Amino acid sequence: MARPIEIDLVSDTSTRPGRAMLEAMTTAPVGDEQRGEDPTVIALNERVAAMLGMEAALFLPSGTMCNQIAFVVHCRPGDEIIVADSAHVFGSEGAGASTFAGAQFRTVDAPRGIFDAAAVTAALRTPRMRRPRSRVVCVEQPTNRGGGAVWPVETLDAVCAVGHEAGLATHMDGARLLNAVVATGVSAERFCAGLDSAWIDLSKGLGCPVGGVLAGSAAFIEAAWDWKHRMGGAMRQAGVLAAAGLYALDHNVDRLAEDHANAKILAARLSALEGVAIVPPEVETNMVFIDVAATRTTAPAIAAALQEEGIRMGVESPTTLRAVTHLDVDRAGVERAADVVAAHLASRS
Ligand SMILES: *Cc1c(COP(=O)(O)O)cnc(C)c1O
Repeated sequence: MARPIEIDLVSDTSTRPGRAMLEAMTTAPVGDEQRGEDPTVIALNERVAAMLGMEAALFLPSGTMCNQIAFVVHCRPGDEIIVADSAHVFGSEGAGASTFAGAQFRTVDAPRGIFDAAAVTAALRTPRMRRPRSRVVCVEQPTNRGGGAVWPVETLDAVCAVGHEAGLATHMDGARLLNAVVATGVSAERFCAGLDSAWIDLSKGLGCPVGGVLAGSAAFIEAAWDWKHRMGGAMRQAGVLAAAGLYALDHNVDRLAEDHANAKILAARLSALEGVAIVPPEVETNMVFIDVAATRTTAPAIAAALQEEGIRMGVESPTTLRAVTHLDVDRAGVERAADVVAAHLASRS
């Protein structure tokens, strides 16, 4: 029988709510969220809106729903969303933008998931009959499949300015925005200065079991409320869940620095192994993409060897693994993972 997973690097969604978070959940004041009567949800929405420098915010069951609702509010059928080719919204959300918003993606080449203002200009469509309408520029901060890279503020600002000049809306998939904040010291509000809508995930590095919070103008959030309800995302005593979010914002943000430090340690240990490359080589947040093409083994074989030792990493391709650090994996855990990879490589040499 397979050994239970003790060190789970497959994603930062693997975190379990700790005792103190659960305690906060059990003591939260609650009401009917769908009627706008849950005080804990209201407090969470206000907190995130202020943090992102937006007028209003909306608690939703998932980050995916934050993206999808943003697209339906921003787009009409026939619209086009400019986005990095490696973006989560493009590759990992079941083609939701075409399903719900009737919009299609215009992907741009984006090393590490980051593109510049010139790429937006090149992707913009001049209005003409039969052409899709350019409508949204979407950025992912930090990038996920771009290796956890952080968009510099100047690049973000320039991309948003070009989008706005052309009459487009700007949207940020900020699933791990607070990782970018902790990694750089730049505030969430500053990162979001050029964005019409942005959201953070509570269920990634922040360690909550459920939820994302979408923010934007008051009018945008009013429209988003209609879609939340329509899609079945309106809840009842959701303060139980929002309380976890408030707890996480108080206790689990600064500590993201530990995850980044552990990711760097893992990357340093692995890149010292013959044939192993970290891509991109610089680890900025909590993601480590491990290229093993130049070794005598494969990504699935390494994952299997790790699994035997109670460790899990994601297999991205036959030659690439992904490891994501989070609050349930400590330094000893990443050192152990590196030891197991080293031993497996040694056994194949
Ligand atoms: C996880 C993730 C999402 C989706 O969030 P869920 O809460 O899992 O629905 C969207 N974008 C990025 C970049 C993510 O990593």
